[in-house]
Amino acid sequence: MSFKNKIVIITGASSGIGAAAAKMFSDESARVVIVGRNETKLSAVAKQCSSPLVVRADIANDDDARRVINETIKKFGQIDILVNNAGATMENGGLLGSDMMQTYDAIMSINLRAVVHLTTLAAPHLIKTKGNIVNVSSIGGVSPPGPGATNYNISKAALNHFTVCAAVELGGYGVRVNALSPGPVKTDFFDNVNEGYNVDTFRPFTMLNRVSEPEEMADVILYLASDRARGVTGSNYVNDNGMIIKRL
Ligand code: NDP
Repeated sequence: MSFKNKIVIITGASSGIGAAAAKMFSDESARVVIVGRNETKLSAVAKQCSSPLVVRADIANDDDARRVINETIKKFGQIDILVNNAGATMENGGLLGSDMMQTYDAIMSINLRAVVHLTTLAAPHLIKTKGNIVNVSSIGGVSPPGPGATNYNISKAALNHFTVCAAVELGGYGVRVNALSPGPVKTDFFDNVNEGYNVDTFRPFTMLNRVSEPEEMADVILYLASDRARGVTGSNYVNDNGMIIKRL
């Protein structure tokens, strides 16, 4: 899977799944654009990639989102792959949470609106290169694991439908759009949630009694972004150690 001469934007590349994907794309000869807000974490990832472009940006901010695309084009002149990986969950994201609507706006801005915006900005460039998009969603968008995260789950369900809509809109131009839905993955993701659980809490709720490493998600992202998946568009690849099927 060589990505030689491919320009790959990865949002949320300062940590977890995005960081693993950035390193893997770089190892496979891509030129990576790593995007996130935390400068220290971005610098640490940048050291593990070959000549990356680092764009410190809050993707929920429209000016920052435009800067991600503009700086990429200024430096590399093209975009081949957009990985919309950045995402967040927060406390009180359920119907009975104390600040449901504030959480709603914050989660929707990052998990959905920013993805729609970046896709709109990148689409003309992806059409030129016949590139593709991988959206990192969640099994919560397919089947809610439990109460308390309704905002997050509906943001990811909408992201799944957006993936299909974008695949329909861009397919005629040769641009593929796919989603990956992880189950529990060992990252910093649950640090924002103080509800007495961490990623290992989910282990017994999976068919395989395990949780994933970020590199397992990066493997699928690279596959979907590669020419090996040239016939795959509008798909949602579930990689969850059998967590959804255990609930069936
Ligand atoms: P991490 O918390 O490790 O990484 C999240 C990344 O998103 C960070 O790099 C963070 O960067 C970035 N980010 C968040 N908000 C913004 C923003 N407004 N602007 C720019 N960057 C932002 O978690 P994961 O690696 O696990 O999460 C990656 C994706 O995987 C998310 O979309 C998440 O929903 C999804 N996912 C994760 C699961 C898990 O169990 N870990 C399960 C299912 C889905 P910074 O802090 O530098 O801004």
